[in-house]
Order: sequence, then C-alpha cells, then structure tokens
Amino acid sequence: MSAPQSMKIETFFTIEMPYRERMDIRRTVFTGGDGPRVAVTAGIHGDELEGLYVCHRLAVWLDELQRTSPGALRGSVELYPAINTLGLDTLTRGLPVFDTDLNRAFPGSPGGPLPERLAAALMTELSGAALVVDIHASNIYLREIPQVRINQEFDDLLVPIAQRMNLDLIWLHGAATVLETTVAHSLNSCGTPCLVAEMGVGMRITPEYCDQLVAGILTVWKDLGAFAPDVVVPVVDHAPLIADDSNVHYLNAQTSGMFIPAAAHWTDVRCGEILGTIVSPFRSEILSEVRSPVDGVLFTLREYPLVYEGSLMARVMARKGGRS
Ligand SMILES: [Zn+2]
Repeated sequence: MSAPQSMKIETFFTIEMPYRERMDIRRTVFTGGDGPRVAVTAGIHGDELEGLYVCHRLAVWLDELQRTSPGALRGSVELYPAINTLGLDTLTRGLPVFDTDLNRAFPGSPGGPLPERLAAALMTELSGAALVVDIHASNIYLREIPQVRINQEFDDLLVPIAQRMNLDLIWLHGAATVLETTVAHSLNSCGTPCLVAEMGVGMRITPEYCDQLVAGILTVWKDLGAFAPDVVVPVVDHAPLIADDSNVHYLNAQTSGMFIPAAAHWTDVRCGEILGTIVSPFRSEILSEVRSPVDGVLFTLREYPLVYEGSLMARVMARKGGRS
C-alpha cells in the first residue's frame, strides 16, 4: 500500500539565455501514493517573498512527515516557490527585460515570448491538480491581513475550501473587476481549482502569517485526502470574515506627503477614527487626516510612507449587520 516516498527538486521550465547560461525554473515534488496532487505557487511577482517562506515551512513539515510516518503522504505535493526568478533576482515585481507582469500573461503560449512560454509551461504542469494555492504578498506599499480573494464566478467551489484555510478574510470579487489573464483565473476556467492567498507586505516576511497559512493549506490538503486520516495537521484557529464589493471602503490620500499611521493594522476601528495623518517634511502642520468612514475592520494599511494625492492609504471592511 505504501508507495516509496520521495522528495526531489526538478526543472519544469528551461530556456537558453543570450550568452552561455540556461535559465532553469524549478519545483520541489514530494511523492507519496497515487492520491490527489496538490500544488503551491509563489514568487510570480518578484517583490513578494511571503510565499517563498510558506513553501519552506511546508517542506519542513513534509520532510518530517515522511521521516516519522512513511506512507502517510497519500498523494503528491508540488511546490513552485520562485516562478519569476529574474524578478526575484533583481527585486523587480514584473519580469525584467520584458517589462511584463507575469500574472497578466496567462494562459500563455508555448511558442510566444518568454513570459508567455513560462505561463504556458506552468499551466501544463498545474492542470488537473486537485487544488492550487497561488500565494501573493501585496506589494511594497500596502500591508494586508491573511486573506483569500475569490472571483464570484467560482465561489460555489472555492468558498467552502477557503473557509478551511485558516485565513482572516474571504474577499469575493464581482466578475467585472476580475482580471482574466491571471494564473488563478486561467486555471479555474479550465477546471483546476485555484485559490489566491494574499497577505503581508512586499519584500518582507511575516512569519506568523506564513505559519497561519501553512496550517490552513495542510488542513485542506488533508480534507482532500492527500494524507492518511490519522495524520495530525497544525491547529486551525482563524475563521474568516466575508467581504465583497458592497462592504469594502477604499481610503485615498487627500494630499501628497508622508503618511504616519495612528491605528494598528488588523484592528477594529470606529467611524471617524483617525487611522493616520499625512504631514509635510518641510512644514510643521498636518496636511490631511485619514479617518475611517465606518465602524469596521482595518484590513489594508499603507506601509510605504511617501504618498501622492489619491494613493491608497487603507481599506476598511464594514461589518455586515451594523455591529462592530
Ligand atoms: Zn502578487
């Protein structure tokens, strides 16, 4: 019954570079039995590192499982921690040289330019998986609580899975606001379930958020039958709030300047409460204030201090039902 268990790192995409080298993009594969195949993708945006650490933590857990419980991995796990390798190497969000957001190149084309080829290779590898979790880390400007964002087109399938993912928020997006050229939309459109996890901030790692998501991912993998029933996964102790386009409020800067936060991220705020001020580096006065328009939860907060008129400063989710 227990197939030989293994872990190997393998190349799933390779392309010759202009001079002597090839660029190899790799994944880690844990093979157990012939149960469900599950996958995690990260680093599609080269300035987002939280998902790379999640892959490391999953590898630690899976190594330990294979060492202590041979045969307990019933399916297989694929980790793709660093998809946009050129972007990660150069602290660049998009794919350098091509000046392309790799997560706008799906489903790609095997005969196209590099971003399209890489996207197509990834689609081939991931298609047919029981579940793909694509991990994002906001950007360098905004800090986010652990959340999953779901296109309402696929909510019947994805929301029940997301409820088990140990996240703090499920944000349902209407079809009109959804980008169709992302890896998640492309996979969901062709029948491979893909959840987009978003958390933390660009260019940084938030270890407690990463471990929170690891517990959720292991829980849903166990639900899917990737592990033997007696395998103990980390405790899930977060239940998500539900947001949609009707109860999320965007707060934009009224003036340019330097943002100084006054409220802590991921806290309850009251209508009218000051979330931060925008000050001038030249003069003594406060140029403008950022106040919450509702009683709710401060789930997005500006991280990078320099702001321009109209910059996104915060997002507050009003609690449905009028209670805070
Ligand atoms: Zn991203």
